[in-house]
Amino acid sequence: MVGATIACALGDSNLSVAVLENHYPAEYESTQPNDLRVSAISVASQNILTMVGAWEGILSRRSCPYRRMKVWEASEDNASTEFNSEHIGRDYLGHIVENRIIQLALLERLQQFDNIDLICPAGIQEIDYSPGSSMIRFDNDKEIIARLLIAADGGESKVRAAAGIGVNKWDYEQSALVASVTTSYLQQDITWQQFTPTGPLAFLPLSGNHASLVWYNTPENIKRLMALPDEQFMQELNATFPECLGSIDQLLGRGAFPLRRQHAQQYVAEGIALAGDAAHMIHPLAGQGVNIGLLDAAALAETLLVAARTGEDITELELLKDYEKQRRQHNLIMMQTMDLFYRVFSNQSGPLKLLRNVGLGIAGRAGPAKNKVMRFAMGLEGPLPALARSEEI
Ligand SMILES: Cc1cc2nc3c(=O)[nH]c(=O)nc-3n(C[C@H](O)[C@H](O)[C@H](O)COP(=O)(O)OP(=O)(O)OC[C@H]3O[C@@H](n4cnc5c(N)ncnc54)[C@H](O)[C@@H]3O)c2cc1C
Repeated sequence: MVGATIACALGDSNLSVAVLENHYPAEYESTQPNDLRVSAISVASQNILTMVGAWEGILSRRSCPYRRMKVWEASEDNASTEFNSEHIGRDYLGHIVENRIIQLALLERLQQFDNIDLICPAGIQEIDYSPGSSMIRFDNDKEIIARLLIAADGGESKVRAAAGIGVNKWDYEQSALVASVTTSYLQQDITWQQFTPTGPLAFLPLSGNHASLVWYNTPENIKRLMALPDEQFMQELNATFPECLGSIDQLLGRGAFPLRRQHAQQYVAEGIALAGDAAHMIHPLAGQGVNIGLLDAAALAETLLVAARTGEDITELELLKDYEKQRRQHNLIMMQTMDLFYRVFSNQSGPLKLLRNVGLGIAGRAGPAKNKVMRFAMGLEGPLPALARSEEI
């Protein structure tokens, strides 16, 4: 998603771009059940995807806007906090979209540009990083030489490793089980999250009566849940998820994801830049991973386009450091915020319980704090690259 967005943003420029992707996603058909992997896409990300010409391809396929967001802690009083886009004069807070649909829309778009080559399946055999003239060798022994490498190949990035860029990481000692289900309710306009002592339970609405459920728990418990036969697993879902879920009619799929925090020690070196999960992986509880990745994409594309137009060398470290400066601190703050949520909400100590209730109370009270939380969810808080503000580069 992140790499293809960068490429689309560089479409029609005087740069020659090759996109290397291993898997072309399966084509979309409206009768297909919803995929397991979905993302809450913020308004800032929607702006970026619109500006690079891919949002239409998403809307024409399948997505689900959400107008409301509710959070509460599983406790005796079940006090909850609800956010509503109407209160800030907006039609929605974001959209839930299947990752495959985002990829399809972007890949379709990038193939419309003459200056972009899509090599898929890439079959990379060797990456030889050399500032200003890196070499990629493919399975068929063909090679390409690139002045600039962009590592947007996910958390296990081979490109990052080839450049010898290290990461700082730790496990959250928590896994996420994602279940794709249909429920007795028709399409919903709310996404909610209930915090429990063992981890949050989240509901993400999808088109029609489809929904994506996320169950955070210890790796051992998630392993046990994954091993249960469907019928028994459905019973556990019904017993554990709050009543507002309604009844689950059908289980369409489930998958488990170990969670870790990971941050590259640097985002750039001469002739290379990292973006998206290759640069950072964060706890998904607030659905921000790909959203901050798309902000990287916009900021990097902006830096490269301006340089290409003014005849600057796009491989230069000083230039690439401008991109790092724009994004690293912002991503670090987002990571620390997610860590704070994770710690504060998975701890049963008295003072932290109080802090949670006070925090939810303040966030829920109509006024500037509540509006700020909504703007945060929409990705509109903080410094934004031009594309995220719907401005041409
Ligand atoms: C349970 C869960 C829920 C999440 N929910 C949300 C959410 O609601 N909102 C949100 O913003 N984020 C969410 N995230 C995070 C989000 O999924 C990631 O941040 C996002 O996928 C990162 O995108 P990316 O393009 O950087 O990397 P990836 O999605 O990992 O994509 C990397 C791409 O590179 C390709 N590739 C890799 N290696 C090679 C190779 N050697 N050769 C060729 N191609 C290669 C892969 O095929 C893939 O297409 C969630 C994560 C999890 C685990």
